[in-house]
Amino acid sequence: MAKIYYENQADLSRLANKKVAIIGYGSQGHAHALNLQDSGVDVRVGLYEGSKSWPKAEADGLRVMTTAQAAAEADMIMMVLPDPIQAKVYEQEIAPNLKEGDTLMFAHGFNIRYGFIVPPANVDVTMVAPKAPGHRVREVFKEGSGVPALVAVHQDASGEALANALAYAKGIGSTRAGVLETTFAEETETDLFGEQTVLCGGVSELIKAGFETLVEAGYQPEIAYFECLHELKLIVDLMYQGGLSYMRYSVSDTAEWGDYKSGPRVITDEVRKAMKQILAEIQSGAFAEEWMDEYHSGGKTFYARRKQEQNQQIEQVGKELRKMMTFLDAKEVE
Ligand code: NDP
Ligand code: MG
Ligand code: MG
Repeated sequence: MAKIYYENQADLSRLANKKVAIIGYGSQGHAHALNLQDSGVDVRVGLYEGSKSWPKAEADGLRVMTTAQAAAEADMIMMVLPDPIQAKVYEQEIAPNLKEGDTLMFAHGFNIRYGFIVPPANVDVTMVAPKAPGHRVREVFKEGSGVPALVAVHQDASGEALANALAYAKGIGSTRAGVLETTFAEETETDLFGEQTVLCGGVSELIKAGFETLVEAGYQPEIAYFECLHELKLIVDLMYQGGLSYMRYSVSDTAEWGDYKSGPRVITDEVRKAMKQILAEIQSGAFAEEWMDEYHSGGKTFYARRKQEQNQQIEQVGKELRKMMTFLDAKEVE
């Protein structure tokens, strides 16, 4: 079982004489900065001149300055800006302002795990990664509880890296729910694997394959959309509340029997072999290298794929159908 830390194993007073810099004020950044400030921590936000987030952070009552200034002032620096640009920002604005005994923090292990950022040996390097989008981290905190988080120590120069990371986790509310101990490698590799094979890649392709099979067989696309995409939410909600067993308890016996008969025929040994191969590419760093090359050379393939995916028939059909369903707060992406 994973080691889990709660409120009484974290000491917020460890942050009493620390200055914390939150670099970035997006999804995670705004939640960390505001929750810490509400917990009585001395917080500043680091951004670049002209950032759209700058006026937002100021309007929320935070001190805002350039990333370099924030890094220079602070003892704890949390990197909550997009992963692909962290290495450049680190090199140009953070590294020159790191002093012995500082703590460099992350909400995802990507840059440390793959060596895109290599901090000096005289600083602590830790991770506090909430297991929820930033707006939930903020909302749940305001309601008086917190979202679970992961904690990890990559480098413990001070001998107090874990205790300080737990104090930070307490400041954002996560010890109220529980903080699970992990490593940068485990967090990064499982996160990438999950989003590629199950959550984003796997589910999207499964939906498309089901939809296309029905439409090619002559069924109406609107009906196929409801069966293969829309209803997925109802099923996932049941799993979320009570696992696979509760989903199977809640659907009809016919659906449950079909699940057992046909599920393994869709997710075959070949699919499991592909998952192992994908995991191997994540572990070797091949995926990370390829993605960073793609991103930093302009993302041509990335943006072309995005466009191609947006033009799928299922996306066109879905857009029209969602207009019927005023209850679901339909969103459109440009
Ligand atoms: P966002 O994309 O929401 O945050 C972007 C923020 O960074 C914006 O405030 C942006 O400013 C700012 N920014 C952009 N460029 C720079 C720069 N050069 N210098 C300083 N600030 C800059 O990021 P997320 O919150 O989604 O992700 C942050 C980290 O948290 C990542 O490591 C991610 O993996 C991790 N994480 C994210 C989760 C999530 O729910 N999104 C969940 C758990 C972890 P501007 O407004 O001007 O663009
Ligand atoms: Mg993820
Ligand atoms: Mg059905």
